Amino acid sequence: MDKLKISVIGAGSAVFSMNLVKDLCLTDGLKGSTVCFMDIDKKRLDMVYGLARRYANEVNANLKFEKTLDRSAALQDADFVINTALVTSHAMEEMERACAEKYGYYRGIVFQDFGDFGILGSCLHQLKFMLKVAEEMEDVCPDAWLIQASNPVFLGCTLMTRKTRIKVIGLCHGHYGVFRIAEVLGLDPKKVTFQAPGVNHCIWMTHFYYEGRDAYPLLDEWIEKKAEEYWKTWDGSPLDVQLSPAAVNLYKLFGLFPIGDTPRFAGAWWYHTDLETKKKWFNKYGGFDSEIGWNYYLNGLRKKMEKMFQIYENPLTKVSSEIPPSISGEQHIPIIDAIVNDNKGEFQVNVPNKGAIEGIADDVVVEVPAIVSARGVQTIHVGSLPKHLTLHILRTHVIPMEMCLEALLTGDKRILLNMILSDHRTKSYEQACKVLDAILNLPFNEDLKKIFQ
Ligand code: NAD
Repeated sequence: MDKLKISVIGAGSAVFSMNLVKDLCLTDGLKGSTVCFMDIDKKRLDMVYGLARRYANEVNANLKFEKTLDRSAALQDADFVINTALVTSHAMEEMERACAEKYGYYRGIVFQDFGDFGILGSCLHQLKFMLKVAEEMEDVCPDAWLIQASNPVFLGCTLMTRKTRIKVIGLCHGHYGVFRIAEVLGLDPKKVTFQAPGVNHCIWMTHFYYEGRDAYPLLDEWIEKKAEEYWKTWDGSPLDVQLSPAAVNLYKLFGLFPIGDTPRFAGAWWYHTDLETKKKWFNKYGGFDSEIGWNYYLNGLRKKMEKMFQIYENPLTKVSSEIPPSISGEQHIPIIDAIVNDNKGEFQVNVPNKGAIEGIADDVVVEVPAIVSARGVQTIHVGSLPKHLTLHILRTHVIPMEMCLEALLTGDKRILLNMILSDHRTKSYEQACKVLDAILNLPFNEDLKKIFQ
């Protein structure tokens, strides 16, 4: 591809912005490309653009950077669009969570008992936005690839691939949880290979090899002999739930080990009833999604943002000293490199199933390994998961995803109500009606209220 244009929508993302900048600057195969940053937050946009230019200069990367507040300008002539935008905000999500808690829904209506859809209102806003971006791409850059990084990846990618002709790849870094298992087991991660398919945030380790040999027996031995001691003495980050009692419990229930975000969102409500219960199943902080864990996560993002602004505001600071030039490990830029330069590699992607996992419909986006090259994305046939697990994924993730998309596409509020009615925390019909109305009445959900009149 000549004169490649890569556009980043939501370029000011705390999670992704600097990783993308680093990886773009350090990928030789993309030299000469134009990188267009787009965000609606001018301060963040200026900051990322400024840091990217300085970074590229310091590491001698031959890239051209542009910035714009106008999405259509960013999409025009793009070859790749990376969507990292969160159109509500973490602050709005917290307000919605607090609102739902008033009606008896601890930690908000997150549908985590059915799978991970994020906070209800935020999830619907995100889906509307993702579809809009993909539809606009059909008009202005129909041949471009869309790499979807922001959540909900599972619902959003299913929606966009059903409703548009755009080539969509959803990405998540959750599968790297396998390397956390390797670390705790004392295995060299470089000698580990694995397969962990499913749907995003609900992926299960079908294969686990160390130096070419099945490593599941090592994991079983660790669970039998060392897990109790590990849990007693564990002193890690609140976000570390990969080898939590919940993960081991899920392994016992389904026969495959849950990877990455799966212990959080496996559709197992009994881990999440209150803080004390979360502490028992995840870690002494109650895991990623407790009030303690989530605040820790948000504080981390805040600090990261502050640091980026500090570096930006001090032009004498060498950016590459503060953010060392090493590849981030995220897949976005290596996938672009694989497609553009036929630099073939195996990646973990979210794409329509088309038979990769048996028992899941072809047009449902699944998370599977795939070979990516100039030929595009060629998924690896995974075959069947244990029947019991496939049924669980259908019940806790696929069906609620279908209901959520149907609600959004038809504006039928009864579908949302039905979903809340089947939440184990709902004790009466009135309670479900009240919480749904309260969420739709929040000022930033005004347009959702119009859709679901
Ligand atoms: P953030 O709030 O720091 O960044 C989001 C950016 O989107 C902001 O700069 C904001 O200004 C911008 N934005 C908002 N509305 C926009 C619009 N209409 N057009 C363009 N830009 C807009 O959020 P974050 O913490 O970086 O998270 C971003 C997303 O990434 C979230 O959805 C989060 O759940 C997701 N996430 C995904 C993974 C993964 O592995 N796929 C991992 C972590 C987080």
